[in-house]
Amino acid sequence: MKKSSQSLEKLKSLSLRKIRQEVNNINKDNKTITYSKNFTISLSNYCRNNCGYCFYNHRVPKDNDNGIIVLISNSDLDSLIIKAKNSDCKEALLMSGEKPDSFEIVRNELKKRGFNSYIEFLIEISNNLLDNRLLPHTNIGLIDFKDLKELKTVNASMGLMLESTCEKLSMQGGVHEFSPGKLPKKRIQFIQNAGKLKIPFTTGLLLGIGEDETDRINDLLLIYKIHKQYGHIQEIILQNYTEKQNIKYHPINPLSIDDILKTIGIAKLIMGNEIAIQVPPNLLKGYEKEAISMGISDFGGISPVTIDYINPHHPWPQVEYLTKICKKEGYELKERLPIYEKFIKKDGFCSEKIRSIIKKII
Ligand code: SF4
Repeated sequence: MKKSSQSLEKLKSLSLRKIRQEVNNINKDNKTITYSKNFTISLSNYCRNNCGYCFYNHRVPKDNDNGIIVLISNSDLDSLIIKAKNSDCKEALLMSGEKPDSFEIVRNELKKRGFNSYIEFLIEISNNLLDNRLLPHTNIGLIDFKDLKELKTVNASMGLMLESTCEKLSMQGGVHEFSPGKLPKKRIQFIQNAGKLKIPFTTGLLLGIGEDETDRINDLLLIYKIHKQYGHIQEIILQNYTEKQNIKYHPINPLSIDDILKTIGIAKLIMGNEIAIQVPPNLLKGYEKEAISMGISDFGGISPVTIDYINPHHPWPQVEYLTKICKKEGYELKERLPIYEKFIKKDGFCSEKIRSIIKKII
């Protein structure tokens, strides 16, 4: 199917069977699915937003070992790095709530440890990771252009979920009513800024947070349009909402597995083989085969060291388990780095410093 003919209505009208056929065509010479061996550094649970579905921020009681983190301690960081190196991880996912330094408790902790800003703290950690031959991928919500530019120098890639541009989510009763950082125009601008700075980038959609099919397809078309302008998006995560304890949000019309599969398939039809389609395998357990037939090409980060802090009740699958499923479907599962190969070579997308670490890792 030609991109020009992909009108919203046409995409909406496609059946799963038809999508599967088209995807088969796109994938006939592309029989690889990738994943990244990573670990997550949860820097701070403090977040200025309060999304209706969030399990991560400091307002929600935690039942994992770490509890609520104001700012990760040096000793916790050191022990994580040792574990990650012993497990042969290549990627360090740095995550936190958005603008944690808007809280006095975090600012005081930064000051106590000799940092003038949260970004300074992030840069020190990233350099520490690089010294240990671990490649940082930072996803900490909105930051300004200047900070993004600084972080680029010490990150192999970065990310920010578009989530959804559905306006009603930010209105009264919507899941983003109390989340100023989730205003669609700010998210779009951030993704464009990353493009201007030539940052290999991950974005994606949250599925089942109150948006509808039209919103999802329009958002996929929008991401493709931004990528066409800047050429920086390496993967799109399609992350389905899952019910969690302590969370009041329950979708009025929860998505069916067919809704999720159709979104995956339409994403593949729009992106072709230009941008990887990623699904978190812990959230689609039991449907991996169906997701493969809809065109996924990546399972994202799978960690031998840390849990999925956003969905802590969904453990990562074993790589061997996914390898077997891929093989049965005619695909080979391969490990990748947090920066895709084409971006390592692409002019301006990978600093000399990162490139030299990659050489040592490989
Ligand atoms: S921005 Fe992220 S961490 Fe903050 S409340 Fe929303 S989902 Fe939670």
